[in-house]
Amino acid sequence: MSVFDHKEFDNHEQVAFFSDKQTGLQAIIAVHNTNLGPSLGGCRMWPYADSAEALNDVLRLSRGMTYKAAMAQLKLGGGKAVILGDPRKHKSPEMMRAMGRFVEQMGGRYITAEDSGIAVSDIKLMGESTQHISGVSAKYRYDGGEADGNPAPSTAFGVFTGLKASVEYALKTDLKGVRVAVQGLGHVGYRLAKHLHEHGAKLFVTDIYEDSIARAVEEFGAVAVAPRDIFDAEVDVYAPCAMGASINHNTIERISAKVIAGAANNQLAEESLGEVLRQKGVLYAPDYVINAGGVIDIYHQRMLSTAEAMRAHIEGIADTLLEIYTRSEQNQQPTNVVSNSIAEERFLTE
Ligand code: NAD
Repeated sequence: MSVFDHKEFDNHEQVAFFSDKQTGLQAIIAVHNTNLGPSLGGCRMWPYADSAEALNDVLRLSRGMTYKAAMAQLKLGGGKAVILGDPRKHKSPEMMRAMGRFVEQMGGRYITAEDSGIAVSDIKLMGESTQHISGVSAKYRYDGGEADGNPAPSTAFGVFTGLKASVEYALKTDLKGVRVAVQGLGHVGYRLAKHLHEHGAKLFVTDIYEDSIARAVEEFGAVAVAPRDIFDAEVDVYAPCAMGASINHNTIERISAKVIAGAANNQLAEESLGEVLRQKGVLYAPDYVINAGGVIDIYHQRMLSTAEAMRAHIEGIADTLLEIYTRSEQNQQPTNVVSNSIAEERFLTE
């Protein structure tokens, strides 16, 4: 398995492999770039088909974290960890402690956090052997409410703020009566729907769980839509808050919304679809910019900060998007490409 010739290799500063025979731990940590600060990114445990698939994932995800941190003006770089295995079958406290020793060996160049398959309790076990962990305790919430460590409220608030700014930019209106399709009513999507409802938007919602849809219908007067029909909904805004790659060759022509602004990671199945959206006159809020509220939250929890400072920082997502939109119009370039260039200006020139 080659690393330097890998299609997802992008001058990553360090890619470290770790194996612990006693606990069966096999893990990879990739540090993409630390020009702006130590790399931060979640640790994912997943039943990868093989180590090549795991390497692909960790290279791609760590790179994405560099761009996300740079666009959120954080003094952080991009990194990610993956553990090979099924979290329901192979995970043990001893394995998590071994992972903590691996993180410690990175000497602070990588700070870990939760991701798919890894819970707060696992990070706490890692924390027995390393201080380079995050997301295990929370001091404050962006709205002054009681903090429970879940970054989803901050992510949802950031997406709401960015969506509102995008609607004002593209449609020259506030949210009253604006029709928004929310795909996925989980930790982020449900909270986003609540913000939107409180600001007068008309919601069209879907999820694979009917009870999640029923709750939004009851609480927000939303229109229920079947998962496969959400792309055909006649709406002004499409907010993808479920899985990645929802904007692809099959769906792009069906989306009639003039704004796409949602929480999901990796929304575009291919980067080239950004240009297709631009030519269709659709304003696309780059995913890693609009969904950065969670990482901004984690960043503030690590510092001697305040709820007000965290909130102001999350609200800054709107200004970042406006900068991207203005440049996109000036340069006739898609927003995802503009965003990548601004991020690179920030982390490559440091
Ligand atoms: P979640 O698992 O709580 O919610 C996802 C929801 O989408 C679930 O309710 C699920 O049933 C639904 N869903 C799955 N497939 C669907 C489909 N085909 N059609 C309709 N609904 C479907 O996850 P979350 O924490 O709310 O995150 C949502 C998205 O935002 C993910 O892509 C995640 O990577 C991204 N994100 C989350 C955060 C965060 O702070 N939680 C931060 C940044 C990005």
